[in-house]
Amino acid sequence: MFKALQLRQDDAGKTQAEIVQLEDHHLPQGNVTVEVQYSSLNYKDGLAVTGTGKIIRDFPMVPGIDFVGTVTDSEDPRYQSGDAVILTGWGVGERHWGGMSQRARVQGDWLVPLPQGMSPEQAMAIGTAGLTAMLCVQALEQAGVRPEQGPILVTGASGGVGSVAVTLLAKAGFEVHAITGREDNADWLKGLGAHTVLPRSQFEGQSRPLDKALWAGAVDTVGGEILAKVLSQMAYDGAVAACGLAASFSLPTTVMPFILRGVKLLGVDSVMCPFERRQAAWNRLLKDLGTQHYDAFSTVASLEEVPQLAQQIIQGQVRGRVLIKP
Ligand code: NDP
Repeated sequence: MFKALQLRQDDAGKTQAEIVQLEDHHLPQGNVTVEVQYSSLNYKDGLAVTGTGKIIRDFPMVPGIDFVGTVTDSEDPRYQSGDAVILTGWGVGERHWGGMSQRARVQGDWLVPLPQGMSPEQAMAIGTAGLTAMLCVQALEQAGVRPEQGPILVTGASGGVGSVAVTLLAKAGFEVHAITGREDNADWLKGLGAHTVLPRSQFEGQSRPLDKALWAGAVDTVGGEILAKVLSQMAYDGAVAACGLAASFSLPTTVMPFILRGVKLLGVDSVMCPFERRQAAWNRLLKDLGTQHYDAFSTVASLEEVPQLAQQIIQGQVRGRVLIKP
């Protein structure tokens, strides 16, 4: 028997979350079984557990879009019993049972070996959000954004992706300006490496097609009017890595930043990101965050706390990263 958080839909179509005891024969199909050490709470888990977004179509579902754990059974020649592995994305916790469980069964193709020297706690302190932050940093670097070109902006800075992005960019030598709606997090964000903390209200509302050119790069986790404002303030040749929609999936912008300043808008997706790029990102995370005090941006919670935390994350009330220990 093992314990899992399971989502069901009641007769009114409302998503209900409960802790259940399951047996191995309940696990979905897959060729690798993993004893889960940690999952983590991501924005998408918040949408799934609260039923806010149409994330889950097949019930019952075990949520948890990422996990780290130890292989117990494998029919995949690349993985043996005892191997430490990470999973993020591929629709796990959405279409395939996920990590908020003591046990998971998945496809070997979806796994990445835990980098040597990284602990399971560190891996899920990073999790999907941190991996996405790294993919954003790498996208900006590939677009030619360098610290000497000017300051860089991070939106939704107190969230999971935002807080890891602030940490990574500061470590890479950028002057990081963090946008937050929670100014009481200012000292915490500065502790992660932010140079200044800007109020979100300054970026809300309709923006002009072009504003004063301020930023060499940006990581955007929120979309909507805020992303439009950020685009209008990009310096010549600047680039924005866009990965999120915490404010809105809309983008009320114009072509002006692109055609008059050569601004680049770089889409970042972690879910279907190919293996080689994922592995490179995890290795870089190990290198860049090696000596980081991960508890500066992460806390640990139990499966029982997930329904409450899910409400909090979609209301923008969770700070940094939350590991879930099943
Ligand atoms: P979090 O909830 O941890 O962070 C989001 C942050 O955005 C909040 O902490 C808050 O920061 C800010 N925010 C929340 N609501 C609003 C609002 N209405 N208007 C403006 N800002 C708001 O989520 P994650 O960091 O886990 O994810 C961030 C986004 O990235 C989500 O949309 C998620 O779906 C997406 N994502 C995409 C991935 C991909 O592969 N493309 C992978 C992972 C995440 P503050 O209080 O500091 O303002």
